[in-house]
Amino acid sequence: CSGYTLLRDPHFNKGLAFTEQERDAHYLRGLLPPSVISQETQVKRLIQLIRQYQVPLLKYVAMMDLQESNERLFYRLLIDHVEELLPVVYTPTVGEACQKYGSIFSNPQGLFISLKEKGRILEVLRNWPEMNIQVIVVTDGERILGLGDLGCQCLPITIDVGTNNEKLLNDELYIGLRHKRATGKEYDELLHEFMTAVKQNYGEKILVQFEDFANHNAFDLLERYRSTHLVFNDDIQGTASVVLAGLVAALKLVGGNLADHKFLFLGAGEAGTGIAELIALEISKRTNIEVEKARKNIWLVDSKGLIVSSRKESLQHFKKPWAHEHEPISDLVQAVNQIKPTVLIGTSGQGQTFTQAVVEAMASNNEKPIILALSNPTSQSECTAEQAYNWTKGRVIFASGSPFDPVEIDGKKHVPGQANNAYIFPGFGLGLIMSGTIRVHDDMLLAASEALASQVSKEDYEKGLIYPPFTNIRKISANIAANVAAKAYELGLATRLPQPKDLVKFAESCMYTPTYRSYR
Ligand code: NAP
Ligand code: MN
Repeated sequence: CSGYTLLRDPHFNKGLAFTEQERDAHYLRGLLPPSVISQETQVKRLIQLIRQYQVPLLKYVAMMDLQESNERLFYRLLIDHVEELLPVVYTPTVGEACQKYGSIFSNPQGLFISLKEKGRILEVLRNWPEMNIQVIVVTDGERILGLGDLGCQCLPITIDVGTNNEKLLNDELYIGLRHKRATGKEYDELLHEFMTAVKQNYGEKILVQFEDFANHNAFDLLERYRSTHLVFNDDIQGTASVVLAGLVAALKLVGGNLADHKFLFLGAGEAGTGIAELIALEISKRTNIEVEKARKNIWLVDSKGLIVSSRKESLQHFKKPWAHEHEPISDLVQAVNQIKPTVLIGTSGQGQTFTQAVVEAMASNNEKPIILALSNPTSQSECTAEQAYNWTKGRVIFASGSPFDPVEIDGKKHVPGQANNAYIFPGFGLGLIMSGTIRVHDDMLLAASEALASQVSKEDYEKGLIYPPFTNIRKISANIAANVAAKAYELGLATRLPQPKDLVKFAESCMYTPTYRSYR
């Protein structure tokens, strides 16, 4: 291909890093300024540039532009500065980017499958230039972070069935279908066509990750396809795995076993019930306690109050296992005082719901209360790190879904951890792919948790952290992948045979490394 096209192909472009020889061999002479610089120098230049933008959304746009012009440089920059840039390309800034997607939209990324493509999904998949696909992340945009229905979005595959978001429907810059969401048969048929086409086109081992679907579809989709496809719901299963890891790690700081603890959730949707179920499963595996009995120490509150047995008739199916015997309570402070949880977890999508009274109640019942404010983005966090540490006089073990800066109280620095499924899904996916696993089993979620918890070091614990620093995400992911794959082999669900001897090493060798290739 010509030098001009080479420079404009994000997969191949190296910008000023093209060597003299490459410039000669690929008709690049004169198309670039004369200086040749290394990828390392390019990274240095870009991070300085991005730091100059004061508005987070502009940092985001700059990152996306880079991904569109030089993919390897984008990933190199992200890997080298992951703690600094994750809040830009992920929560919280990505939340704003999703809200304003129509107005910042420039190049389409990934595939858009709308109701217009009904009956032609296989054809759409074949329009994508790559045939060798291993993972698909798909959304229908109905529950983006804690921000609700954001319609047509920028994930690798968006299924567009419309949106119920009035603001978007009336926004002339909106890029999606301009009508109310399709539901029922129309929705189910489109999704079924999609799931069928995906397997037909890419085979049995394609991993489909459902992302940010509303819970009235999420649980059903997972249930419907888990026995026929390799599917994973990040919001239900990934969240569960990351939170369980944090709790297991927190035991090192508070003592006891999981079975000795009592859990209260604010929010009983995908995240809340997903985490609750995995905790119960872990307890039942570690003790002689049955899952049903383990559930008794886990309580959930939804928008109508504490979930109790007298409400059972009117509850959505995923809440039913949590309807225990108790009088109704509508207020969270009262729920904390009556249930007396040792662990309080926020999965409501509602900001500032862990009020001072709630947090103080946790602190008066527990020497070291564990409080996880998981809702994203930052605006929806149940409380801030500063509030949690201040209201408990620094006694809390705290982590949140979106990042917060360290907090100093009486000269002591408290570092909040980030309880985010971003710790799990890369390693989990890699573990499945590298072992050729054909179905996801809940035991693999436990394996991922265990691997993540084992990566928390003594120094992390000393800082009060229950998650390892994100800078190590590649090493963490290799360990998670290895443990997940080992479980897949044990369960007979892995098809890549023989099993590699050293799974951590194998995982590392399977990882993408964005070093430039040489075009000689
Ligand atoms: P979801 O399925 O829609 O569930 C939300 C739950 O919160 C529902 O049970 C809802 O009650 C309840 N709720 C809403 N307002 C409430 C209020 N004022 N008081 C008490 N409960 C209330 O959503 P989800 O997928 O679980 O996600 C929830 C949040 O968790 C989002 O902000 C998301 O960003 C966050 N999240 C974080 C991570 C992470 O890694 N940190 C992972 C996944 C999700 P009803 O059932 O009565 O409507
Ligand atoms: Mn999500």
